[in-house]
Amino acid sequence: MSTRKGKNPLPDRYEAFRRRLVRRRVDAALLFGQKNILSLTGIDCDSACLVCPSCGAPTLLTDFRYVPAVRRSAPWLKCVEVKRSDGLSAVMRRLLRPGGAPAPARIGYEGSLEASRYLAVVKLFRGAAPVDVEGEVLDLRAVKTAGEIARIAAAEALNDEIWNLSRREFRHGMTEKDMQRIVRGYMNALGDGEAFETIVCVGANAAECHHVPDATVWHGEPLLVDLGVKLNGVCSDMTRNVVPRRPSPEYARVYEAVLAANKAAIAAVKPGVTAGALDKAARQVLRRAGYAKAFGHALGHGVGYDVHERPTARAGDRTVLKPGMLVTIEPGVYLPGKLGVRIEDLVLVTASGCEVLSSSAK
Ligand code: ZN
Ligand code: ZN
Repeated sequence: MSTRKGKNPLPDRYEAFRRRLVRRRVDAALLFGQKNILSLTGIDCDSACLVCPSCGAPTLLTDFRYVPAVRRSAPWLKCVEVKRSDGLSAVMRRLLRPGGAPAPARIGYEGSLEASRYLAVVKLFRGAAPVDVEGEVLDLRAVKTAGEIARIAAAEALNDEIWNLSRREFRHGMTEKDMQRIVRGYMNALGDGEAFETIVCVGANAAECHHVPDATVWHGEPLLVDLGVKLNGVCSDMTRNVVPRRPSPEYARVYEAVLAANKAAIAAVKPGVTAGALDKAARQVLRRAGYAKAFGHALGHGVGYDVHERPTARAGDRTVLKPGMLVTIEPGVYLPGKLGVRIEDLVLVTASGCEVLSSSAK
């Protein structure tokens, strides 16, 4: 659990969220998602509920394990201890229906909330209309603060370093699993572990875009590695390939097309364009090269506290890019039974265009 002392380090984002609740006529929202709470308050606690009234300040409900740390690190936040004998529902009832007041008319919840919790909330506020407000938080999370950008850039720089350290240790005769362990070892030693399970694919295994590393032995075929280290609460993400000195003509052709698609999409990143336009820019290049059908997934995604955040750069997406957004640019071509190539960079939208945060050779 951590946060800056003194005041909410993210007051603008919290206030923007509160205003959205007002706009949607939600009386109060109950947030349980750890990353959602972290993104609005700076508090990283895996067992808490943030009660957000549309008028007034939020209250964090948590149990005795976390109360001292929250009070110490975030004295600006009202924190109420939930006792085992009391239960979360009773505390919420007291907070939102003081003195047996009628239930709020509209109560906000997160669409990703587990069913048992959702049903408890509905039961507690019987008669209130449940309104899914998670999209509001996710939208606000898509535009990063300067502090978040600095941390994500540092995570991506460490990811570059880990890639360069790891690949020097890869040897013919190793299995995918062996190489995954090398990458993971560096992530644990130099960072805060993996942001997601490192993907290592030998040869044709790369045609499965989320192949799980197995006992396949590397004998010098092309390698695809998709890696992201976690550092100080944020994620990074990058995909690189180890290309043999003399690749097959088909592999060389595919690699060139994917690299051209990656560069074309990066060249299109600037404020005001839609996320869908980036996907289109990459897809056009691959279509011209004859690989339209071999690029089955979306071009990319935002990265932050989670490895997959908004915006999603997929065909037709109308999200307008703003400075402070991050998006991965990861076109791929997958030819089952033969080969797979994906080249992924993490890109920051800036006021004048973009900055590529990944710096490993591609
Ligand atoms: Zn990736
Ligand atoms: Zn990715």
